Amino acid sequence: EPVDWPTRDLLAHRASTTPDATAVIDADADESWTFGEFDRRVDAVAAGLESLLADSNGRFDDLARLGVLMETRVEFAELYFAAMRRGVTVVPLNVRETAAELESKVRRTDLDALVCEAGTAELAVEVADCPIASVDEPERGGADSLRSNSGPTPESDLEPAVLESDRTHLLMFTSGTSGEPKIVRLTLGNLVSSANASAFRLGVAPDDRWLCCLPMYHMGGLAPVVRSTLYGTPVVIQREFDPAATARVIDKYDITGVSLVPTMCKRLLDAGWSPPDSLRFVLLGGAPASSELLERCREAGVPVHPTYGMTETASQIATATPEEVTTHEGTVGRPLVCTDVTVVDESGEPCPAGESGELVVAGPTVTAGYLSDAETEAAFGEHGLHTGDIGYRDEGGRLWVLNRRSDRIVTGGENVDPGEVIAALRSHPAVEAAAVVGLEDREWGERVAALVVPADGVETGASGTDEIDLESLLARCGERLAGFKQPKTIGFADELPRTASGTVDREGVRERLLEDGIDVAEST
Ligand code: ATP
Ligand code: MG
Repeated sequence: EPVDWPTRDLLAHRASTTPDATAVIDADADESWTFGEFDRRVDAVAAGLESLLADSNGRFDDLARLGVLMETRVEFAELYFAAMRRGVTVVPLNVRETAAELESKVRRTDLDALVCEAGTAELAVEVADCPIASVDEPERGGADSLRSNSGPTPESDLEPAVLESDRTHLLMFTSGTSGEPKIVRLTLGNLVSSANASAFRLGVAPDDRWLCCLPMYHMGGLAPVVRSTLYGTPVVIQREFDPAATARVIDKYDITGVSLVPTMCKRLLDAGWSPPDSLRFVLLGGAPASSELLERCREAGVPVHPTYGMTETASQIATATPEEVTTHEGTVGRPLVCTDVTVVDESGEPCPAGESGELVVAGPTVTAGYLSDAETEAAFGEHGLHTGDIGYRDEGGRLWVLNRRSDRIVTGGENVDPGEVIAALRSHPAVEAAAVVGLEDREWGERVAALVVPADGVETGASGTDEIDLESLLARCGERLAGFKQPKTIGFADELPRTASGTVDREGVRERLLEDGIDVAEST
């Protein structure tokens, strides 16, 4: 009987309220579980966790940290709720990373145990020296099966954990766009607040079905799982995003909401996707959505809600409505309920509407801090968490995100906003996309450098470009930008390097430009 479970076991609470409602649908296997069934599966996994952690010299309860190295799948959701049930902190790891990157993450988070799947078992054994279990049958690599551990529950002397709403329950890595990924401490209170605030903005309907096709090791993938359990609506889980397959899943399961990053949305539209009437919202976030993409969404009838969010706020900070997309171009909308965003200048003083500065966020979804006290100390100020993002608000409280503070290029003492340079480059008809970074420069401190993706069908020569193109590009920049803002190094690529969450990987851009960027001053 679930009545014994503490009230903050979200799944137990849900299962005792609507046990027969559909909880989870596995879109790949076309299988589904009710909340009652899902709850029992989670119980079995929780028992398996207990024996796994018993092997780890017993830092149980409050302190145990469980790494999860898996693609998006139902078992990920099971583990998450099993850990919640046992009061264990979950540490999702990015399966796309190299062994070296993962090793550093495992070390920094000091894991007590790691759960993997068949496809990541070898990697798990390579990067971790704690007890390891696989949710699939034991494969090569020496991981035990979590399920075979979980037979009949051994008589346990452990009390069911009471998960305080202000205790860390998730350690989530940021995407590492601006440096080494930071480890964010998130509490159950943060996640529940985020789910509530999101529901207040998007509404919850009885027939809602949220599709989860983003990696669950990022907030955007895990959030729908937590939210659907709170709301009592099904979450549909698809292992991997694929334009054609995802479009089919949206149709087949009458999906009403989905979170996407802009590149996914673009790929869906490129594949000729037209959304079914059932679809209520597409949360589009993680990176800026271009005006072209938003225009294409409008034409195709995609109910797009541009969203600004971050790991540190358990996802959404602000979300726009499809109407605002047309009435207030480029906005990410108003902050969610109970979330305060202050725009501050360089000295930390609030800026008036219309003036740009750093976005500072406060409210119940905001992390208590990073795992590193020094990083926490550096990030929090009088008005809350300094996001590192530059933006502004209008009189109506709507927000615009321009770029990151760390993206600003300082050349010869002058500030250059990469967005302005990108806009100039993109005004050239042969340019599909561009990224602009600062490269170290002996004379100027930094120099402006651009990596340009030519539009489809534009000829690029053996050296990556042809001279004519470069000249007309420079001419275009010359028309629109002051001298110090014009790119001094230009490179060409088929696509921009991106992080797993879809943001431009600026370090990758820098590397490309250092390797085969063309020094403009020499070539002209
Ligand atoms: P790191 O913090 O390690 O540098 P990251 O900031 O990319 O990585 P995430 O927490 O995944 O890690 O991403 C949050 C960031 O993504 C925001 O701070 C912002 O810079 C960017 N972002 C999210 N949504 C939007 C949006 N709609 N428009 C512009 N930028 C966005
Ligand atoms: Mg960040």
